[in-house]
Amino acid sequence: MFETGIRQLRMAVGTLSGRRLDTRNIGRLVDDALATLAEFGEPGADVQQLIGGGAADPEERLEAANRAVRRTARRLASVSPFYARRFAAISAEVDQLDVAGLRAIPVTTKHDLAERAADFRCTDVAGYLSTRTTGTTGRPAEIWMSRYEMELWPALSALALVLRDELRPGDIMQVNFSSRAVAANHLASAQCRLANAGCRLLGIMAPDDALDSLGEFGTTLLATYPSYLAELVTAARRRGLGPEDFSLRRVTVGGEVLSPTLARAACQTLGVAHVEDTFSMTEVIPVTGRTCSQAHVHYDVSTGLTELLDLETGEPAEPGALGTVVITPYFPYRDCMPVFRYDTRDVARALADEPLSCEMADVPATSQILGKAGDLLHAATGVATPRQLVDAIEALPTAPWPARYRAAVHEGRIALTLPASAIADYGEAAAREHFADAGLDVELSIADDGRARPMRHTRSDLHETSFSAAQALVGA
Ligand SMILES: [Zn+2]
Repeated sequence: MFETGIRQLRMAVGTLSGRRLDTRNIGRLVDDALATLAEFGEPGADVQQLIGGGAADPEERLEAANRAVRRTARRLASVSPFYARRFAAISAEVDQLDVAGLRAIPVTTKHDLAERAADFRCTDVAGYLSTRTTGTTGRPAEIWMSRYEMELWPALSALALVLRDELRPGDIMQVNFSSRAVAANHLASAQCRLANAGCRLLGIMAPDDALDSLGEFGTTLLATYPSYLAELVTAARRRGLGPEDFSLRRVTVGGEVLSPTLARAACQTLGVAHVEDTFSMTEVIPVTGRTCSQAHVHYDVSTGLTELLDLETGEPAEPGALGTVVITPYFPYRDCMPVFRYDTRDVARALADEPLSCEMADVPATSQILGKAGDLLHAATGVATPRQLVDAIEALPTAPWPARYRAAVHEGRIALTLPASAIADYGEAAAREHFADAGLDVELSIADDGRARPMRHTRSDLHETSFSAAQALVGA
């Protein structure tokens, strides 16, 4: 039954003709997958393509991308006021459009989305739920989603998670995302519902409360941001907690740089084999990326097109060059407020132009995300990325997690300000050497810890108060 269902779904995906998918069928496929796994222990052949994304043959994959780009553009030209104008302005022939021709279409920026949100709403779809971006750059953008999208996305992701054995019936998932990340929270709970797992949406609560909760009710999965994971690990170490205090099987993070030092510490303290580092962004849902064992990010090709564009020229980044990740989610995976060639400003390096040898070699990839384009430091010795800084700071023996710093380029060198606690008992001289060893030419200054907060913002700063965790009111 399951193989038949998968075949039908692949056929539907392969021959999409502008119709939406039947979300109930995908929900049923999750049930079938669970039943098959329960009976046979594995889902059988031929499903990796569906969940990993697309054909292994590059030509076949390009042809599928060309069809999907055309299908998406054709629809936007008729129902998205923003893109109807944009395509008309450059006389784009949407019926002829393909991946190569895409370059003529200007990228869409967060500024476009924030300033002209109403123009992005497609005229043939009713909005059901809105969500706001919770990143640390710029004004939040509000994205509207249709009922169809909110049924489709968790069904597709639950299917992939179940088939990869990453989500099982009986699992309990603790979700520490900002409560305002409505889409991410909704998707997590809907995935759990479809997989017969439990879900605890806790928000960015006091880390000690989150730790208490992690140790309860046999919580097996944790989903959060790297900076909040840093707070949890720090609090757990302070309390002397270790793997025996938790029953976690998987920890998944995304949305920020995860340093190797923090990942290792989280594994040791929480008792998991590794921390999964995923790429996702509200504006480009449902397109996601997964990190492989060789630290590439591989982008799902079935739900969208991912490009890496050179930061200077806007052309495809050459091997080794830095580029910004630009994503086009395809119709019918996105229908209410779609974006086309959305410039995430997340920077990655283009991989060498040679075949990959990792376990996801068939899926297109870039380096890990290195930080936001606006945070790159153009020093005399070359460009330093936020990832380099975070990796180096979080590797300090004082374990200052999540990394707090302020950085700018001053006379060609990186002027780096750290809070005093980051080098306590270690000293400035040793710290300078530490950064030099990491290949960073820094001019170090130290600020009082009280001034550490306004330094680098992280998503863990989105702390939500409660009456038990908040400080007593003055005069109370
Ligand atoms: Zn890889």
